[in-house]
Amino acid sequence: MKVMVLEKRGGPLQARERPIPVPGPGQVLLKVEACAVCRTDLHLLDGELPEIHYPIVPGHEIIGHVASCGPGVMLENGMRLGVPWLGYSCGECWYCLHEQENLCDRARFTGYQIDGGFAEYTLADHRFCFPISSDYSAAEAAPLMCAGLIGYRSLSMCGNDLQRLGIYGFGAAAHIVAQVALWQGISLYAFTRPGDERAQLFAHHLGATWVGSSNQLPDVPLDAAIIFAPVGDLVPAALRAVRKGGSVVCGGIHMSDIPSFPYALLWGERQLRSVANLTRKDGEKFLELASNTTIHTQVECYPLHAANEALTNLREGKLTGAAVLVMAEVNS
Ligand SMILES: [Zn+2]
Ligand SMILES: [Zn+2]
Repeated sequence: MKVMVLEKRGGPLQARERPIPVPGPGQVLLKVEACAVCRTDLHLLDGELPEIHYPIVPGHEIIGHVASCGPGVMLENGMRLGVPWLGYSCGECWYCLHEQENLCDRARFTGYQIDGGFAEYTLADHRFCFPISSDYSAAEAAPLMCAGLIGYRSLSMCGNDLQRLGIYGFGAAAHIVAQVALWQGISLYAFTRPGDERAQLFAHHLGATWVGSSNQLPDVPLDAAIIFAPVGDLVPAALRAVRKGGSVVCGGIHMSDIPSFPYALLWGERQLRSVANLTRKDGEKFLELASNTTIHTQVECYPLHAANEALTNLREGKLTGAAVLVMAEVNS
């Protein structure tokens, strides 16, 4: 099978051939249809995540079909599954026992500690996969596995009775959570890089009430804001934009340092928190919601061998929506 592998810090990914792996106990072998590209893949490439063991196959937004099952797994061949970032949790630690398996002490993550979906085939622990309906094409479904899920978890951390939600960084996660928020009747305030007309147009097109630059403030205070861009300067900016008692949620795995800011920005019971990973319950709730409403994921498709190009376009802010690697049809 063809894979794109990260062999050293900084990359680029290398195209390699590997034998198709054999599923072990509890595992499924998936024939990958599509795998979306996430900002976390850039952090992996740049060595910004701790303890990366090379070589690693990135990719944690995988849609594929069951090709074979390991011992103890009874799933039908051909069944369509999605594989998210959380690839394993221990089930025994304090976090796992308190419905916070996203924070598991021994969690393992797809495309980081487990070879991921930038490949024609991948192995996954079946307990952490989600059934994926055929209503979505593989390319449309792939970004739901992280951009969608993390956005959904971030939104659920914003508090109840939201009326006005700010989103900083209008990429893959934002364009999905924006649709969920609008569907829930929440007004959207989209903040983009100053001068990023493409992202601003995209936000308008999706139905944002207000679109502006991250250094601007709307004329009404917001109930909450989610920061998807990995830019620490946005934290005080977002705190400035939310009302007393409002929340600022950081949805990314990595962020540049947050500059110091006056306590008055946090005062008034404003809350600042991060969102880490996902739980399977998040996945179930989000995918149920995604089947009750229609989420239109805007995707730009690339062949597997163009993974580096997709990553570069993501880095340079050239994408509208999500980049997705779509596998060529191969005879299995
Ligand atoms: Zn991701
Ligand atoms: Zn655990």
